[in-house]
Amino acid sequence: TVSDEFTTDVLVIGAGQSGLAVGYYLRRAGLNFVLLDDQPAPGGAWPHGWDSLRLFSPADASSLPGWLMPRPPAADSGFPTRDAVIDYLKQYEQRYELPVRRPVRVAAVRRSSGSVGGFMVETDAGTWQARAVVCATGSWRNPFVPVYPGQADFSGVQLHSAQYQQAAPFAGQRVLVVGGGNSGAQVLAEVSQVAHTTWVTEKEPRFLPDDVDGRVLFTQATQRYHALSGAAAAPPPTLGDIVMVPPVQDARGRGVLGSVRPFVRFTPTGVVWADGREESVDAVIWCTGFRPALSFLAGLGILQPDGRVATEVARATAAPGLWLVGYGTWTGFASATIIGVGRSARATTDEIKAFLALNQAPTE
Ligand code: FAD
Repeated sequence: TVSDEFTTDVLVIGAGQSGLAVGYYLRRAGLNFVLLDDQPAPGGAWPHGWDSLRLFSPADASSLPGWLMPRPPAADSGFPTRDAVIDYLKQYEQRYELPVRRPVRVAAVRRSSGSVGGFMVETDAGTWQARAVVCATGSWRNPFVPVYPGQADFSGVQLHSAQYQQAAPFAGQRVLVVGGGNSGAQVLAEVSQVAHTTWVTEKEPRFLPDDVDGRVLFTQATQRYHALSGAAAAPPPTLGDIVMVPPVQDARGRGVLGSVRPFVRFTPTGVVWADGREESVDAVIWCTGFRPALSFLAGLGILQPDGRVATEVARATAAPGLWLVGYGTWTGFASATIIGVGRSARATTDEIKAFLALNQAPTE
């Protein structure tokens, strides 16, 4: 049996932007809930971003439900910094008095046996009983690194962008930056100031025009989403993927924004390119993305080989009472962005409300 202190109607795992957005709507719906987060301080993944990281959209296009992100001071003409986002999330949590317990790490979610129903959620600080569970654990804990022959014998440094902090340790080195998205472009822009860099991408990167920011990615994604869901004739072509934030424009000005296609294997001291040429390399920075951090669901038997769960938008189809919020379009359109997650959080809360009403707790 679980004491009342560890019993709740809705348990949210993760208190980054997604968990907080869900918390906002759960509070508004008057539901009984708690959020568990394994980090010592607020901010979700953001404290793990690199030192110079900024949003690529302005503050008022990067807000959670209810409260606009404060604009940067007038003296700072750029988009919000990493630390400004962390501060916003910290204040958001306080403003809406969201009941976050931290650091508490969830190890496993299991079905409750017996008449109570719902879930048993095992953590490093006790076992919780909940009627509904929302996973909002993001992906930073699960960086994805592709596999290349000889990789284990490579004696240089390998680092994922999730661990990258700043360029200084790479000064004077030969560095491969792998990955053609915004992280790759931004890490390349910074490291190329102090190191000899080569940018390795699957395809030729597609740069957005200089005068648009991350809002255009959201608009593009919205248009494609509506087209694919049948509301428009055909998905419109996208303008590009990489936002030309000032550091990336600067890198272009320095002539270091060219890219090459991937190498075929590692050697102990470097890599071999497709044409057979060997090159010595000191470090490889993998900007190759993330996979959902959901291993604690393994006991429910619903994890797919790609680490995802079958969902109808955010609702896990094979596990009544379980929702997943914030993992990207497969769990709700644009849900992995600050501005996009609010919509998923609201719809999820509506579904939870209906679910709890239908599945009343048994009377003692
Ligand atoms: P997270 O922020 O990762 O929060 C999840 C929380 O759950 C974390 O605290 C985590 O430690 C915790 N957790 C995980 N597993 C457990 C467990 N088992 N038990 C307990 N707690 C757990 N988005 C934008 O909108 N604009 C941008 O400009 C932008 N730039 C980005 C730049 C980079 C380099 C990256 C990587 C992402 C960017 N994003 C941007 C995307 C997005 O905002 C982040 O990915 C966001 O952090 C996702 O929020 P989340 O709440 O879903 O997950």
